[in-house]
Amino acid sequence: MYNIETKCVQGGYTPGNGEPRQVPIIQSTTFKYTSSEDMAKLFDLEANGYFYSRLQNPTCDTVAAKICELEGGTAAMLTSSGQAASFFSIFNIAQAGDHIVCCSSIYGGTFNLFNVTMRRMGIDFSFVSPYCTEEELNAAFRPNTKAVFGETVANPALIVLDIEKFAKAAHAHGCPLIIDNTFATPVNCRPFEWGADIVTHSTTKYLDGHGSAVGGCIVDSGRFDWTKYPDKFPGLCTPDESYHGVTYTERFGLGGAYITKATAQLMRDLGSVQSPQSAYLLNLGIESLHLRMQRHCKNAQAVAEYLEGHEKISWVKYCGLKSDRDYELAKKYLPNGSCGVVSFGVKGGRAAAEKFMAGLKIAAIETHVADARSCCLHPASATHRQLSDDELTAAGVTPDLVRFSCGIEDTQDLVADIAQALKNV
Ligand SMILES: *Cc1c(COP(=O)(O)O)cnc(C)c1O
Repeated sequence: MYNIETKCVQGGYTPGNGEPRQVPIIQSTTFKYTSSEDMAKLFDLEANGYFYSRLQNPTCDTVAAKICELEGGTAAMLTSSGQAASFFSIFNIAQAGDHIVCCSSIYGGTFNLFNVTMRRMGIDFSFVSPYCTEEELNAAFRPNTKAVFGETVANPALIVLDIEKFAKAAHAHGCPLIIDNTFATPVNCRPFEWGADIVTHSTTKYLDGHGSAVGGCIVDSGRFDWTKYPDKFPGLCTPDESYHGVTYTERFGLGGAYITKATAQLMRDLGSVQSPQSAYLLNLGIESLHLRMQRHCKNAQAVAEYLEGHEKISWVKYCGLKSDRDYELAKKYLPNGSCGVVSFGVKGGRAAAEKFMAGLKIAAIETHVADARSCCLHPASATHRQLSDDELTAAGVTPDLVRFSCGIEDTQDLVADIAQALKNV
């Protein structure tokens, strides 16, 4: 078993004698067979193999296997975006009439997906504070609750989730815990080690790291025993008539059932695939993930400490600061650092924040985050624009919040740029 740094570089792909050193891009929608019988076996999930890239593609599977190794899972799949990964992760085990418990401090896009679009599909959500007591958390469950969802480090509230608290409550109610591990990345936190059952990623962020390809990933720990609750998870524990009566948990075991079902049903029907070209770029990014995360975290720590002492800054949120509410949680779950994003308020509110951002020379104003190049955003007027004031408060996004994503530039250059921009505010 290699350490995480080696897995970042070498995981997922071991070429044989004379084969390409770099992951091959299999730019093909379809795959050739000599008999219809071979093909039929694939369609019945009786044999392993590729037949159409809407369901599976070798390049995508190779990169998914690397992320699976990084997270310590048993199976994984790439999706076209982080949004698709979040949607699939829940829709694979919940349908109209079901209910999900969700931490309120999640990414604005995920909140909209759950609270508006998936509600329209008949799935209900209860949002609970990340700081809730165990009693409050337990009270959120209903007989039809199918999963619990949260983010390791929330974007952009930067609240650290007490993963063990959420895992304990989820398991006590026969539900898996799904964790969006986008901001921490498996380099800084592996949620499965703390009791999470399924991990999702927006690979668009640190895993890619260069702002080159939108993508997502879902990883299964293989540890949640669906067969203990066959009435709760009929899709995994009873025959799928669209595949000649295959029962996923029987045929593919606990390690493979969840991802096989998501591929065979959701990808087949919804087609949210990542392109092989994007998967190739994603893999290039992951090869340096462990090195980049170190610099992202070092820069963020320096920026957070600088801002904390600045007279024009009203507050700073970064769990690496001793004064931070989540400092102890971060020491436990993120001992090597959290992420490169720092959130803070500029005195004078929105107008001052906008003036500050416009004065930056290194960091650009972008919707993007978690990139090698520094960037910043005012979430209340961008990613979180659709949220009401109450929803913003629940998500931990105040109207004056600036989300500053530290890249991997030189630390002193970055701090100096922030200093000059603040002078003009
Ligand atoms: C960006 C983001 C998403 C959505 O991912 P896309 O790749 O943009 O679809 C989900 N969760 C978190 C934490 C994110 O930062």
